[in-house]
Amino acid sequence: MSHPTRSASTAASEDLFRRALAVASGGVHSPSRSYAAVGGGAPRFMVRGEGAYLFDADGHRYIDYLSGYGAIILGHAPERVVEAVRRVAPDGLLFGTPTPLEVELDERLCQVIPSVDRVRFTASGTEAVMTAIRLARAFTGKTKLVKFDGSYHGHSDPVLVSAGSGFSTLGIADSAGIPPGVMEDVISLPYNQIEPLEEVLFRQGAQVAAVLVEPVVGNFGLVPPKPGYLEALVEQAHAAGALVIFDEVITAFRFGYGAVQDRFGLRPDITVLGKIIGGGMPIGAYGARAEIMDLVAPLGPMYQDGTWAGHPLSMAAGLACLEALREEGLYARLERLGRRLAQGLRDAAGRAGVPVQVHQMGGAIALYFTGEPVDDFAGCERSDSERFARFFRAMLQRGVHLAPSKYEVWFVTAAHTEADVEQTLEAAAEAFRSLD
Ligand SMILES: *Cc1c(COP(=O)(O)O)cnc(C)c1O
Repeated sequence: MSHPTRSASTAASEDLFRRALAVASGGVHSPSRSYAAVGGGAPRFMVRGEGAYLFDADGHRYIDYLSGYGAIILGHAPERVVEAVRRVAPDGLLFGTPTPLEVELDERLCQVIPSVDRVRFTASGTEAVMTAIRLARAFTGKTKLVKFDGSYHGHSDPVLVSAGSGFSTLGIADSAGIPPGVMEDVISLPYNQIEPLEEVLFRQGAQVAAVLVEPVVGNFGLVPPKPGYLEALVEQAHAAGALVIFDEVITAFRFGYGAVQDRFGLRPDITVLGKIIGGGMPIGAYGARAEIMDLVAPLGPMYQDGTWAGHPLSMAAGLACLEALREEGLYARLERLGRRLAQGLRDAAGRAGVPVQVHQMGGAIALYFTGEPVDDFAGCERSDSERFARFFRAMLQRGVHLAPSKYEVWFVTAAHTEADVEQTLEAAAEAFRSLD
């Protein structure tokens, strides 16, 4: 056994969960944090993060791969980011005016992402996507939105039609409470197949304002685009007079310094950012070429506002994080660790006779319990939820913290070491063997 001294008590988390159930819906503030899809019971209440590790209220340490659902790429509480927040906080938490820091982060993003001439900050990715859709409608004068099944773009009304992530985890197809009028304006298609898109654009292209896509899907596991798929998507959308919105909330600064669109040599019309660019503080952003951003108030007639937009602490944390990400060799190290982890998981599953698919790109990994290839949402859906739930619990017991859902990605951070990865693989070998 690799962890003979590990205490099994979860009394503190259970007690907190009992209190939370009485006063918070389902005991959580985000459904994706619930253990409903992995056998139920109290989620671990975390009290501290340091580098690759999380510590729960019961005194256990975990190697963490949830990594703030991808917002954390330097590890927990990285000194440079915490220090930046500490430096800024005493000067005031919120002014409701422009600040110098936001100009710096604007400049950095516009410089690094060639398709973006101007940027606007929001407090979350949800708001940024919601506004990007409004902006595409304002620019084209059209109303329909094309998106892809199982993709997650936050929780505004239109993108909760056939959404993924926390949504799929709980087996909900479309959220309740969305007006039929909103649903009618959304067309959800399978990802990675160009024919259905072609067909819809042929029939309804004159009404389509935007095609919204995660260039590399990070919300039903990790699914890269098939060769030529994104290129065809962009070409066809433009031919139909629709804008292309890339939701890069997960992908930007994940696989390299900048947006993943440049790796594919593509220029979306609007780019949505979030997560990593806030360095662990709340953030969202959307950006586009000047001609499109000129429609945003106060220059133009499309309105978007926000008390927390460009929050000084988010700006400070984001700048410090992006600065740290420039470290020589950092993305190569994430790729190396990601590869080792992915290959190790394939080998360990193989030795235990458990059929799996492991996808990996940089430090991002998806593990599917299925023998069949996964290249769309349906493929992820078909993977074995029951096996995932048992694997999740076996890993948790062995000190490895994953997101409590088969749809979520594992994120290796710059703080993870080879030793962490090897320890994770030892735990995984035992966990795979425990499945039969
Ligand atoms: C997390 C996420 C969002 C929503 O961002 P929030 O800051 O949680 O509102 C949008 N799009 C994608 C691809 C995401 O992963």
